[in-house]
Amino acid sequence: MKKITTVVELRQLVTDWKLAGRRIAFVPTMGNLHQGHLSLVSKAKERADKVIVSIFVNPLQFDDNADLSAYPRTIETDIQQLISVECDAVFMPTAEIMYPEGMDGQTVITVPGMEDKLCGQARPGHFDGVATVVAKLFNMVQPDVAVFGEKDYQQLLLVKKMVADLNLPLEIIGLPTYREASGLAMSSRNQYLTEQQRKKASSIYRILNEVKAKLEKGDSDFGALEQNSIKELQQLGFVPDYVDIRQAGNLEPAKTSDKTLRILLAARIGKARLIDNIACNLD
Ligand code: AMP
Repeated sequence: MKKITTVVELRQLVTDWKLAGRRIAFVPTMGNLHQGHLSLVSKAKERADKVIVSIFVNPLQFDDNADLSAYPRTIETDIQQLISVECDAVFMPTAEIMYPEGMDGQTVITVPGMEDKLCGQARPGHFDGVATVVAKLFNMVQPDVAVFGEKDYQQLLLVKKMVADLNLPLEIIGLPTYREASGLAMSSRNQYLTEQQRKKASSIYRILNEVKAKLEKGDSDFGALEQNSIKELQQLGFVPDYVDIRQAGNLEPAKTSDKTLRILLAARIGKARLIDNIACNLD
């Protein structure tokens, strides 16, 4: 596996592969890799001849400096894991390489309709930071296809909209959330949990599924379903940001006539802010 840190090296590798007619898949990550990330790499391998993974803890998408400095960095084990799934190249730029003018001098991409809802509301500037770094990485890697997780569902929709709105020439694939046996969505942030908090965190998936079951039975009092889930989370010791039933395609608040829904949840416990979501199709 090639280990790359500069844009010049990356462009040379990509040019060589393209001249040889290779199709390139790209998986952007912030490292601290787990089975969820590796499932994206496996899908990427199915869809292309060469797979590039990036590892970059993007300061532009953190609204909290303590959160940024605490974010787990495990580059050596990440590299070993990528070798084990036969990734072709890993791109590990520094912040200086990604933002040579500093973050204040960086042109920023805003995808409309995302900053003002759900995680956008809870984390000001977060999605501008995500859109900007993903656009820069797409321009550096020039992939034919890029793979993202549904775990970050709002991020996936944001990337799809950016690609459509800016006519970027690549395909975006979303993959289902990889979970632990308890139902807990795998996440780098799970490391912040104590054993007891981790047990409680498995309730997140159960609560999402309870809301889904009630919707499927015809309950359409979305407000009450959301509020009951919030109370349940609070009783478990979480500080919930939101539990929301939304239209799956654009994350606008769901109406009773909507059939394709997404149930999304974000809650804090201890040092961790956990997010999860599931689909709910009422057809
Ligand atoms: P991150 O390193 O957390 O920024 O995530 C990098 C990519 O992995 C994003 O596309 C995430 O949505 C995806 N991802 C993170 N956790 C999971 C998971 N449990 N299952 C599937 N994909 C995931």
